[in-house]
Amino acid sequence: MGLRKGDQYVEGLKNRQHVAIYVMGKRVNDITTNLFLKPSVMSFKATFDAAFEEDTIDLARVYSPIVGEEVNRFNSLHSDPRDLVAKVKLLRKLSHKTGTCFQRCVGWDGLNTLYIITRKMADRGVKTYHDNFMKYLEYVQRRDLALAGAMTDVKGVRALKPSEQPNPDAYVRVVEERDDGVVVRGAKANITGIAAVDEVLVMPTRAMTEKDAQYAISFAIPLDTPGVKVVVGRQLNDGRRAEGGEIDGLPYMFNHEGLLIFEDVFVPWERIFLYRDWTWAGLLVEVFSYYHRQGYAGCKSGLGDVIIGAAYNLASQIGVAGKAHVEDKLVEMTFLNETMYSAGLAASWEGKKVAEGPGGWWVNPMYANVTKHLVTRFPYEISRLAHDIAGGILGTGPSEFDLKNPEVRQLLEKYLQGVPEFTAEDRLRILRLLENVSISVAYLIESVHGAGSPQAQRISIQRIYDYKYAEEIAKRLAHMSKKPLSGVEPRRASDVEKT
Ligand SMILES: Cc1cc2nc3c(=O)[nH]c(=O)nc-3n(C[C@H](O)[C@H](O)[C@H](O)COP(=O)(O)OP(=O)(O)OC[C@H]3O[C@@H](n4cnc5c(N)ncnc54)[C@H](O)[C@@H]3O)c2cc1C
Repeated sequence: MGLRKGDQYVEGLKNRQHVAIYVMGKRVNDITTNLFLKPSVMSFKATFDAAFEEDTIDLARVYSPIVGEEVNRFNSLHSDPRDLVAKVKLLRKLSHKTGTCFQRCVGWDGLNTLYIITRKMADRGVKTYHDNFMKYLEYVQRRDLALAGAMTDVKGVRALKPSEQPNPDAYVRVVEERDDGVVVRGAKANITGIAAVDEVLVMPTRAMTEKDAQYAISFAIPLDTPGVKVVVGRQLNDGRRAEGGEIDGLPYMFNHEGLLIFEDVFVPWERIFLYRDWTWAGLLVEVFSYYHRQGYAGCKSGLGDVIIGAAYNLASQIGVAGKAHVEDKLVEMTFLNETMYSAGLAASWEGKKVAEGPGGWWVNPMYANVTKHLVTRFPYEISRLAHDIAGGILGTGPSEFDLKNPEVRQLLEKYLQGVPEFTAEDRLRILRLLENVSISVAYLIESVHGAGSPQAQRISIQRIYDYKYAEEIAKRLAHMSKKPLSGVEPRRASDVEKT
């Protein structure tokens, strides 16, 4: 036990007994050899190997006072602002190693969230959930487990609360209470990496009312639990994984998402971290989503580096690297990329301790929301500029199998080459890398919807910014008011800071 290497993680995914995982309508027993899911397993694996590799060991490992030894940072609590900064940096670096989403952040943010929420509950006299959570955290850290974070319910009719839905299972709920635990039913949507994790951390997805009490539930179970079903989602270009090629599928690692279904699944009491106390659900969502919004600064800027690098190389390959408008576009891409990263670092350095004990350092709420809101837009613009530089061949180029056919290869070598120091194969390799990263779920769709769709950040920004305070600033300068103003930023405390 202790830190696991990537191979140990992969080995641990074998021999599952209960969970039913479906890929394109077929049940998959060993996901480590399944062509569709293997790239996702490889991406997870990179997060384990990072704790042993020279260029990431310092970022990927951290001392945990819970177990008294180093753990993989993906299972750690944030104990000061430097941990929040290290999170963003680790994610940027891992994007360079994988070229995709490495799928372990949602569970990590879930751990830090549940630490804060259960600790606050304990401070108000409800200690059971914090005790349960701390035992669970120790279990996870000692075994170095891979976690999924399952928050997003399928939500049925968006405008209706859980208890008002025509389908009572549109949000995960408790359908039976027993002496030894509860039985849950429902489904969570878009869950990253779900088929390739050891454990699932389930959290409510919205603020609730008293009528929604049966939906106010947070718990953790092994993925391999009776009644758990996973329907894996498709992605662009995913058929390439089955082709057995070595260029068209670049990069070789991919994420996956899936629909996670609980068909009357038993959860023991000791694995429950919130139940029926609906008043905490909204706060839990705030803590989690702001953590997750900060994190996107790292992974998306890391993928931005891949895209900028690919565009730069392609510009060189076709002899336009030194042209003023190309240089300008590369600078624009860099500016957008570093803006996302800077906002995430600001959200980290300006973090705050919001709960007592070994964890409890939370991100700056305004900068975390600003970070994610930039991420909903900038990757699209970075991709657009990269596609501009790459030329139309990005969408029309031949396959690697044409290169493998000697008759076609000699034609492609002649007609695909730009400046002579690069080959046709070089061009195809970088084009495929750019295509698969810049039009990917991980870089585009996830950037819009992960951690909440754009409107969710706008609502948060509106809540946090103190418009009355800003008005006083203006009124003072217009000699309409002499009210003293003490703060620097016009800010209202977020709910978790007030609780
Ligand atoms: C690649 C990817 C990975 C993800 N990974 C995870 C994960 O690991 N774990 C997890 O829990 N979730 C995950 N998510 C889910 C993500 O958090 C949600 O997609 C996001 O919260 C948006 O929810 P939704 O997809 O249901 O969209 P919707 O909520 O249906 O949003 C669609 C549109 O409807 C609008 N809308 C929604 N509700 C209302 C309303 N009441 N009033 C007015 N307008 C409304 C939205 O603003 C948006 O424009 C992932 C998503 C993606 C794309």
